[in-house]
Amino acid sequence: MNEAEGVVAMADTYHNYVNGAWVPAAGGELHENANPADVRELVSIHSRSRRADAFAAVEAAKAAFPGWRDTPAPARGEYLARAAALLRERADDIGRDFTREEGKTLREARGETLRAAQIFEFFAGEGRRLGGRTFPADGRDTFLYTLREPLGVVALITPWNFPVAIPAWKLAPALVAGNAVVLKPATNTPLTAVRMFECLAEAGLPAGVANLVYGPGAALGDVFCESEDVRAISFTGSSEVGKALAAKAHQRLVKVQLELGGKNPLILADDGDLERAVAYAAAGAFGATGQKCTATSRAIVPRGRLEEFVAKLVAAAKKVVVGSGLRDDVDMGPLVDADALARVLGYIEVGKKEGATVAYGGRRLEEGDLAHGFFVEPTVFVGVTPQMTIWREEVFGPVLAVTAYDDFDEAIELANDTAYGLSATLVTKSLARAMRYVRQIEAGVVHVNSPTVGAACHVPFGGYKESSSGSREQGREVLEFFTQLKTVYLDI
Ligand code: NAD
Repeated sequence: MNEAEGVVAMADTYHNYVNGAWVPAAGGELHENANPADVRELVSIHSRSRRADAFAAVEAAKAAFPGWRDTPAPARGEYLARAAALLRERADDIGRDFTREEGKTLREARGETLRAAQIFEFFAGEGRRLGGRTFPADGRDTFLYTLREPLGVVALITPWNFPVAIPAWKLAPALVAGNAVVLKPATNTPLTAVRMFECLAEAGLPAGVANLVYGPGAALGDVFCESEDVRAISFTGSSEVGKALAAKAHQRLVKVQLELGGKNPLILADDGDLERAVAYAAAGAFGATGQKCTATSRAIVPRGRLEEFVAKLVAAAKKVVVGSGLRDDVDMGPLVDADALARVLGYIEVGKKEGATVAYGGRRLEEGDLAHGFFVEPTVFVGVTPQMTIWREEVFGPVLAVTAYDDFDEAIELANDTAYGLSATLVTKSLARAMRYVRQIEAGVVHVNSPTVGAACHVPFGGYKESSSGSREQGREVLEFFTQLKTVYLDI
């Protein structure tokens, strides 16, 4: 971004947060963060870290760990509760910065900020519930029990598509369990991470307990894999990057949690409410511009209801107002950056070439105010077959592939015909059919009569097959990832 490209606003500069202070990257390099709805607007400027900065953050976390580990868990939870209150108080401002750098609508961004506060509140409470178990011992004088202890320094790598909720659902359990952390947020959404760290700092979190470094994922990720002080890495992002990271980390037997892509199906049953199915498909496919790991990307519809379903879905797509997420009347913001735009438009072209038909959308939007942003139309493909790329690969944009089925077994087979298994939904009025689908569907998050998107913070979240690896996120289950068990035989 420079003057020649028409930058119209000045922006503040932000640095890494290491050992309780905002510090520039050692090399003095900077990264400019533009608004995807209008790239002429510079939102913020951030330090661009290199390996030395990541090592320094790990060092700070290592030094802070013993003090934090020895802080009683209920007291650790109180820091999270204070940070949650600050997130709530600032949800409007944080939501605005988030919309300016990521593109989601203000409603979505503010809602996600409040969700992050809720996650902090939930895990604040876990500070009073962490604990091991007692067991009957073989010896009469032996007290046999387990302790759940923190791992040490843990590294968190997060994507841009949930820039406040995903860091929150990694930071909160890691911290309440007594770990010291280093967060590397996505390069596209550094400001939202700053805002969250401001809340943690103002909540009084001791220096070094939570550190923030921005910079290129490959360089910083390598440090986390190499540094003997990092005991675990929790990663959310693309399958390609996650698999490579896990292979490197495994060489040092570091604990790795991966949350990766999805190709989530919506099945409409013969008896299902068609209007509802259309509403869920539209919300799941076009919400957050389709940039959700749980987005609905395949709709599987009875052949006899296909025409009506597509007509109503196209009508819903036509109603979606596309534009800057800062505007009140907008339903769908831009894609996050130029690469995302090129990728989504590329998938649309491949879909057409492979023989699918665009029932609605498929174009970049560049008219008027949209000229300087990464906008696409909500897009519906029909005539999609399971061999096609848009059926198999994660598009990560507002693109829905619709196909028809003849009997319910075939619908389930189609839904499961993917390397992924994150979320799924069935629209039906039949309890028997719902129960059969719940048994047979290969997904970690299963909906009946609700969209494929959405995740409550107090229940486990994660996928089957290639969508996830390692333990579940969220809920109490995630604490298994961020702790280790010590078994104690105490002869009294
Ligand atoms: P990405 O893999 O490009 O980046 C994710 C993070 O990894 C970023 O912080 C990035 O800087 C970092 N990174 C990049 N290269 C790295 C490397 N070599 N080593 C270590 N870190 C590296 O993914 P993205 O484009 O930011 O996010 C979109 C993807 O995330 C989609 O595939 C989506 O499905 C997935 N996602 C999954 C979930 C889930 O919970 N399953 C949730 C949200 C997003």
